[in-house]
Amino acid sequence: MKNIIIATKNKGKVEEIKSLLAGCSFRVLSLKDVGIDIDIEETGSTFEENSLIKARAIQRLSGEIVIADDSGLEIDYLGGAPGIYSARFLGEISDEKRCQGVLSLMNGVPDEFRNARFRCAASIVKDKKEMTFFGVLEGKISFSAKGNNGFGYDPIFYVPQYKKTLAQLDESIKNSISHRGKAFELVAKELINWSSNETIFSN
Ligand code: IMP
Repeated sequence: MKNIIIATKNKGKVEEIKSLLAGCSFRVLSLKDVGIDIDIEETGSTFEENSLIKARAIQRLSGEIVIADDSGLEIDYLGGAPGIYSARFLGEISDEKRCQGVLSLMNGVPDEFRNARFRCAASIVKDKKEMTFFGVLEGKISFSAKGNNGFGYDPIFYVPQYKKTLAQLDESIKNSISHRGKAFELVAKELINWSSNETIFSN
């Protein structure tokens, strides 16, 4: 069985990705499993560039096949912000304060101008072979924070299809519609192809 490393320190993400890749015949390992503990600077200007930067760095260190992802929230009214800066938007504050900060910036903005989306880019790097897959979840910035599930901007991201915020949805429903879920579904399909095609491993 071939190894595959997930280039993230986020434990929740590792578990989520492991379950998404359960059908692929790879041994899925975390950075902790392989004893790698480094901070990689995300110097790219897109989600794709940042996910490739992370995957390449860990591939060079480990020599294994590596998967990385980068994601964030784009709000139309804010010109696409926070985008790639989602994790630290408005400073080093709690997720709760960050959500309140976004709600303040959107104060008085009517429903039709509250469109937003989560984007995810997920990259696979094996030696010189690189591929990136994408997922998007469209929604709106809610008028108040609701729900306790999930993380980040989930309490203020309203999903019209369910008439709930992401933080009000069960994890399994979130994973089935989310930007990350969609991108990793494509990653999993690609890996299943790889595992049935030995020539990919012959170079
Ligand atoms: P990263 O992909 O780990 O760099 O995440 C970037 C940031 O985007 C996170 O810290 C969150 O603030 C935000 N984000 C990404 N995906 C989600 C999500 O599914 N729900 C809520 N916030 C998210």
